[in-house]
Amino acid sequence: EDDVCRCDNCYVGATCETKSETCVVDASSGSPFFTDDYWISEVRNGNKDSTVTIAPYYHIGYGAFVGAGNCGGFAPVSGGCRNDLETEIRALHDAVGNFKHNGYTLVMGVGSTELIAASIYSLLDSSQNATVFSEEPYYNGHSGVAEFFGRNWAQSAEEAEANARTYGRNSTLEFVTSPSNPTGAMRTKQVASGTAVFDSAYFWPHFTPITADRKLSDHDVALFTLSKITGHASSRIGWAFVKNADMAARLSGYVGASGGLVRESQLRATTILASERRRGYPVLTFASERMASRWSALESVLGSSACYSLQPRGGRATDMWSGKTYAPSPAYAWIRCVSGNDCYQTMLSAGVRGRAGPKFGANKDHVRLELLMGEPDFQSMLDLLRKLQSKC
Ligand code: PMP
Repeated sequence: EDDVCRCDNCYVGATCETKSETCVVDASSGSPFFTDDYWISEVRNGNKDSTVTIAPYYHIGYGAFVGAGNCGGFAPVSGGCRNDLETEIRALHDAVGNFKHNGYTLVMGVGSTELIAASIYSLLDSSQNATVFSEEPYYNGHSGVAEFFGRNWAQSAEEAEANARTYGRNSTLEFVTSPSNPTGAMRTKQVASGTAVFDSAYFWPHFTPITADRKLSDHDVALFTLSKITGHASSRIGWAFVKNADMAARLSGYVGASGGLVRESQLRATTILASERRRGYPVLTFASERMASRWSALESVLGSSACYSLQPRGGRATDMWSGKTYAPSPAYAWIRCVSGNDCYQTMLSAGVRGRAGPKFGANKDHVRLELLMGEPDFQSMLDLLRKLQSKC
């Protein structure tokens, strides 16, 4: 209930009724409030199918660990010891068509962030040469965790490739973030001799049309997260599809060592995904329409600006799930200040807090603005950008 009661950035007062003229819109995170209106309308329409009620006698014993036996550690929604969350996750991928998961082991984590950490910790050997790479501009959640674990960060694909050739496949890990955070561009593996982890957080129809030739397959590891699908980031549910049994055991060993998944979260994710499946995943339709309208609004403000250049969106394609033809609508705007000035500061002075280019390995003339906030914040940001553009 606190999420519904939160005020958007530019609103104050007991019921968030007053618009503040001096507000700063926080566009610096990736908190997926863009789906909140959908879930609020579900409740207002009296649809309780996706609401979880947990009796106090549930989840008392240790049953929460991911692994074999003991109901597999997963919440049995309809009785028995089936792994219902795994079934729902696989059904979602079957419906959307974005990952051919047959023959892959599913490993779940506390958000995909835990699986990023698990990959860096357990898929690399522990030598001094252990190196992580991701093409620039890269997601700072990859570089930050690599730094935390004391791994080297390769400055170029050539450096990473040379490391992998000298010290072996387990010395070098590449994150292939596709679509990219921050740019939304589709990416391919750059380091042939290393281990590649595809971070597919944004590979969903509301961010990019899913086409047959983009269908993910032949990947060692592909990461996904509930956060960027239904928006339930605080439930902390992420998963990895892993081809190789040894790699799967390493990743699930890490998750087990850190305590395993929270059972309440699994129950919630299972309930939401099952409810959505029964109705043909209407949350994806809602999210697609919302992201498409945000991009057309953003382009009408900055699309032909001489001062602020938006990243190219990529071409239109027909999405396999919806059958509709559309251009990608990335989760982030990746903006370059044509003047070459510090673009983070320029935006902040205009009332929009983004994330500065250097966090992604890019220059100060770039800034990332998230497009996943609640609708009132998005509209406030658009107003502020319109004002900024009018002074261009
Ligand atoms: N990967 C990428 C590329 C992301 O942008 C994010 C969230 N910003 C994550 C992983 C982490 O998501 P979570 O931990 O919520 O699953």
